[in-house]
Parts: sequence; structure tokens; C-alpha cells
Amino acid sequence: MEKTFIFGHTNPDTDSITSSIVMENLEKKLGNERAKAYKLGKINKETEFVLNYFKVQEPETLENIEEKANVILVDHNAFTQSVNGIEKANILKVVDHHCISNFETKTPLYYLAEPVGCTETIIYGLYKSNGIEIEKVIAGLMVSAIISDTLLFKSPTCTEKDISVAKELAQIAEIDLEAYGMEMLKAGTDLSDFTPEELISIDSKNIDSNGVSIQVAQVNTACIEDVLKSQKEIEQAMENYIDKNGIHLFMLCITDIINSNSEAIVLGEKKEIAEKAFKMEIKENRMFLPGVVSRKKQVFPVLMENT
Ligand code: MG
Ligand code: MG
Ligand code: MG
Repeated sequence: MEKTFIFGHTNPDTDSITSSIVMENLEKKLGNERAKAYKLGKINKETEFVLNYFKVQEPETLENIEEKANVILVDHNAFTQSVNGIEKANILKVVDHHCISNFETKTPLYYLAEPVGCTETIIYGLYKSNGIEIEKVIAGLMVSAIISDTLLFKSPTCTEKDISVAKELAQIAEIDLEAYGMEMLKAGTDLSDFTPEELISIDSKNIDSNGVSIQVAQVNTACIEDVLKSQKEIEQAMENYIDKNGIHLFMLCITDIINSNSEAIVLGEKKEIAEKAFKMEIKENRMFLPGVVSRKKQVFPVLMENT
């Protein structure tokens, strides 16, 4: 049997890492013994907390993929957010909850997409439809990703299905959703030992919209002011990234997980797109975005509409 590589997006978040591990578990139960989870980059503090809590090892890092290698993509589909060489890999399956962009294959595939808050909510459905029992640790990983992607159900991306699935998984995992969830999210707000360069790449995604290269990074915090103390250094890192990668618009959303708002640092030659999109003026390279917590639903779509 040939090997199957399973991985989420670059700058991995808790959903990308845990969905890879959980898909490996499911694939093996379905007879694909050579399925193996990988990560595309360093795990963040929140994911580290989750893996320590449930005593699960982090996946190995995958630098690039060989031609014709079998792969399963979770939590992403855009080639711009995937592994080097993805264009020539043999994509067997995609399980994802993002818009479909910058994606094409030469062969038929199994593509499962649902507009829910988290990939794990979709994978939960796969366990159910295959009649496979979800073990405690697997449930713990899955519910952690739902908490992460929905910011404990506060994000507009969160659906009723995410909530009911999370409740069931929390029971299997024997955790208290509220207490565990807050502790986990707070672990992700510890930005103390990141350099500005690392900070802007913890959770950063690129979309090409009508020839405009838009980069949107996001960090979670319990205090926006704390992060802004190093605004100058962060801006320098963003400028360097813009120059190196030909970015036209770079937004760093600093998201307050307690009050569900974001402050954005906005740079790049096309930064007027952000002003048009949010009908707001950029002052000191910043704009405050009340109620904005979801890059996928509240940031990328409005920026793309204005390119
Ligand atoms: Mg993700
Ligand atoms: Mg996700
Ligand atoms: Mg996310």
C-alpha cells in the first residue's frame, strides 16, 4: 500500500494540526494503514497546550511533497496555503470549510466541504457515517479545534452544528467546555517569546484577488494595548515581508478574544482597499474593527470585493 500524506495549511493552527492527526486515525480505521499526519510549519502555543493536555505527539514537519505522492488536504484547499510541490501531487481527498480558491486537480477526487466553523465538525460526520467510535483523546483534539476556530462559539463562522458537535465531543473527552476553552484560548495569547517576524507569521494567510496579493495575519490577545507596545517593530517586520513577497496589502488583525473586537495594523501600496472595505480611515497605520474576529467571514470577503 502506498503512503498517504495528510496535512493542513502552512502557519498551522489548532484545526490544521488536529484535523491531520484525527484524519490519520480515521483513515487507519478505514483500512488505509499507511496514512500519516504531517504539519507545514511550527505549531503555535495554543496547539502546544492542546497536545500537552491530551498527551499527543506533534506531527513531523513536511517541507515539500514529491510528484504523484498521495495526499489528503484538511482545513485548506488553496495551493498558496499548501505544501511546496502540491501542484504535482495526487490529491485523494479534501476535507475543508473554506472558500474554494486557487485549487485544481487533473484527476477526480473526494471533496468534502461544508460551511461550518471548523474542519473537525465535518470529520465528526465522517466518523458517524462510517459507524466508527470516537475515542476520548481524539474527541479532545476535535473539540479543541472547534473551540479554537469559533473562539468558543463567538465567531460569526460558528454554526448550530459546531455547537452541538462540540458539546457531544466535550462529554467524550471529559472536559468542561467553558473552563477548558478559556484556558486553551488564553494559552494561545502568550506572545512573549515571539520575535516580530514570528508574530506576523503565527497565523497568516495570502489570497490573490484580481491580481492584488493580500496577506492577512491574525493574533489572539486578551489585551490589544500589550501587543501595540511593539507596533514599530511589528511594522518593520511587515514591511520586510511585503518587500520580500510582493504583497500589495498586509493586514495584521490583533483580535481581543475577551471582547470580540480587532485592531488592525494596515500596510502596503494598496492599503486604500482596506479603507474602502471597512469605510474607515487608517490612522497611525491602524484601524479599529468593532465586532470583527473572523478573517474568513469578516475580513477577506470585504477586501476582495474592493479589489
Ligand atoms: Mg485553519
Ligand atoms: Mg479551520
Ligand atoms: Mg483560524
